[in-house]
Amino acid sequence: MGILDWITQSAQKLKDVESQIHADSQDAYEVYQRNIVLEREIAQRTEELRLANQTLLTLEQVWDMMNSSRPLSSVLETIVSSLYGEFGYIYSFIAQKEYDAKHPTYALKTYLENEFSTDMSNLINESIFDFKLHPQKDGLIEQAIAKKEVTYYISLKSFIEDNLEGIDTERLSDFSAKFDIKTIIILPITVQNQFSGFLSVFSPRKELKEDELSFLNLFTRQIELAITIANLFETVKKQAVTDHLTNLFNRRFFEDALHREATRSLRTKQPFCLIGVDLDHLKQINDTYGHSMGDKAIAQIAQAITKNSRSVDIPARFGGEEFFIILPGIDAKGGMIAAERLRSFIEQSEIEGLEKGITASLGVSSFIEQTTNIDELFEMCDKAMYLSKQNGRNQVTLADTEKITSWQDIAIDAFVDILTQHRIPFSKTLAADLIEKLQLKQQDSTGTSTQETLYSIVDSISKSYFPLYPDGSTKNKVQLATLIAKRLNLPKGEIDKLKIATLLYDIGNTLMPKDLLKKAAPLNKKEKSKIEKHPIIGAQEILKPISSVANIIPIIEHHHENWDGTGYPNNKKGEEIPITAQIILIVDSYFAMISYRPYRKAYTVDEAIEEIKANANKKYSPEVTEAFSYAIDEFKKL
Ligand code: GH3
Ligand code: MG
Repeated sequence: MGILDWITQSAQKLKDVESQIHADSQDAYEVYQRNIVLEREIAQRTEELRLANQTLLTLEQVWDMMNSSRPLSSVLETIVSSLYGEFGYIYSFIAQKEYDAKHPTYALKTYLENEFSTDMSNLINESIFDFKLHPQKDGLIEQAIAKKEVTYYISLKSFIEDNLEGIDTERLSDFSAKFDIKTIIILPITVQNQFSGFLSVFSPRKELKEDELSFLNLFTRQIELAITIANLFETVKKQAVTDHLTNLFNRRFFEDALHREATRSLRTKQPFCLIGVDLDHLKQINDTYGHSMGDKAIAQIAQAITKNSRSVDIPARFGGEEFFIILPGIDAKGGMIAAERLRSFIEQSEIEGLEKGITASLGVSSFIEQTTNIDELFEMCDKAMYLSKQNGRNQVTLADTEKITSWQDIAIDAFVDILTQHRIPFSKTLAADLIEKLQLKQQDSTGTSTQETLYSIVDSISKSYFPLYPDGSTKNKVQLATLIAKRLNLPKGEIDKLKIATLLYDIGNTLMPKDLLKKAAPLNKKEKSKIEKHPIIGAQEILKPISSVANIIPIIEHHHENWDGTGYPNNKKGEEIPITAQIILIVDSYFAMISYRPYRKAYTVDEAIEEIKANANKKYSPEVTEAFSYAIDEFKKL
C-alpha cells in the first residue's frame, strides 16, 4: 500500500472515530436532557407525596381530636391553625351565619390571632372577638353558600369593601399594602339545618393549583364532619343522662351530681336536701289496669316533679317507681315544704281511667344539717320514705338522725339485760356463759352469725326449762314466721318486731315450776290454767322493765288468743288480735305438733299441716292459715 492510500485510510478511520465520538456525545446530551426532566418529575412527585403525607398527618390529627370528644371549638381551632401552616397562608378563619340578624351577617366562630388580626381590629375599630361580616345580599359569599361552590376575591381590598361597611379608604389602602395577599378563597360549609358559613383562607399566591384546591376541599369536609359529630355527640350525651320514659335524669347522672353537689356544699357551707319519692301501690295499678297504666302513673309523677322543680334542682328517676330530687341551697325545713307541695300536687293530679288517682310516699334528708356523708344522706332519705309507707303512705317524713337499730341488736340487748339482771332463775355459770357469747357478738356485728348466736342462746334457755325442746327449733320458728309475714305483705318494721317476739314469747316459761312442764300425764284443770296464764304474765314481768322491747309485749300477750275467741288470757277474737300474734300462734302450734310430747306422739309434717288447715276460721285466722300453707312449702325448700 502506498503512502497515499495509507493516509486516505487513516483519514477515513479518523473520520469514523470522530463521527463515533460525535454520536456518543449526542447520546450523552440526550441522556443529560432526559435526566433533567426526570429529576424535575421526581421533585414534583416528591412534593406531591410530601403534601399527601402532610395532608394525611393533619387529617389524622383532626380525626384524633374528633375522637377525643373535645369541644367543637377546640377541634375547629386545630383545623384552622394546621391549615394556616400548610401553604404559607397569611390568615384563615371560619365564619358562621347568624340567623336572627335582619341582614346577612357572619360572625367569626374560629380565627387565628396574629399580626393580621391585630391590624384588622385596628382598621375596623373592633376586637376580632366581636368581629362580624356583613356581605351584600346576593354577593359573592351568599352565592357561594347557596350554590355550595368555592369562590375567590382577587384582592384584600375588594374582600373588605364587599363585606364591611364604613372603612376609611386611606387606612384600607395602607392595610392592603402591608400584607401581600393575592387571593382570598371562600369555601362554603353546610351541615344540614345546623350550620352554614364558610372557611376563608388568605393566600399570597395568585394562582390556585389543583392539589391545593382539593386539599382545601378536604379540610372543609373535615370541618363539616367535626360539626356533625359534635352535634351527634351532644344528642347522645343528652340521651345518656336521661331516663326515656320520664325525660328526667337517670341514676348514673344523678349519682355524679350528688357527689358534685356534696363537694360544693362543703366548700360553700350551703346546705342542700334530698327528697325521695316512691309511687304508692304501683303493683296494684299494674295488676288491676295493666302495665301501660302503671307507666302512665310513673310518667305522671315525673311530670309533677318537673312542674314543682326549680331550674337548679336535679330530679332523677332512680329505677322502677322511685325518684330522687336534689334541691341545692335548701335546708331540711325548706325540703319538707317542697316535699309536701309535691305530695299534694301528686294527690290532686288526675289520670284518665284511674278513678282513685295516685299518691306517693316521700322522704326528706338534709346535707350538712343531718350528715356530711352522701351514703348516709341517701340511706336516711330511704328510711324516711319507708317510714312514710309504713305509717300509711301518701305522706312526707323527715329523716331521723338517730340510726335505726337492727332487730338483732335490740334482741341481743334484751337478752343481755334479762341475764345480767337475773330476771329469770338461771344458774349463774350458764348465765355468765351466755352473756359472754352475746357480748362478743355485739362487738362484731356481722349479719347471719349474729342471728345464729341469738338462735342458739334461745335454744339453750328453752332447754333449761324444757329438756325436750328440739335443737335448732328457734331458727326454724323465726324462718317460718318471717315467710308467713312476707306472704301477708307486712312492713319491715312489723316483721322485725315479729322476729324478736318469736325469740321471746316463751321466756315466761322459765318462771314455771319445772315438774309441771315435764309432766307426762295430761294436765288437770288447775294445772292447765296455771300453764295458760303464767307464761304470759311471766313474759310481761320479765320484759316490762326493758323499754326497747316494750312494743313486743302485746304480741306475746295475745299469742294464745284464738280467732273464734276461745283462746286465752283475754278471749280476744278476730281482728282484735294483732296479726303478728296470730302468726306466732300458728308457728308455735305447728312446731309443737311435729314434736314428741310425753303424752302423745309427734304428728308428721303433713298431718300437722292438715290439722292447722282444719282449724282455719276456728283457732286460726283464715288469712294467716292461707299464708301459712303457702309459706310452709317455701319453708320445706330451705
Ligand atoms: P308501695 O306502696 O309499697 O310502694 O307498693 P308498690 O306496689 O308501689 O311497690 P312494690 O315495690 O311492691 O312494687 C313495685 C312494682 O312496680 C313492681 C314492678 O312490677 C312495678 N314497676 C317497676 N317499674 C315499672 C315500670 O317502669 N312500669 C310499670 N308499669 N311498673 C313498674
Ligand atoms: Mg311503690
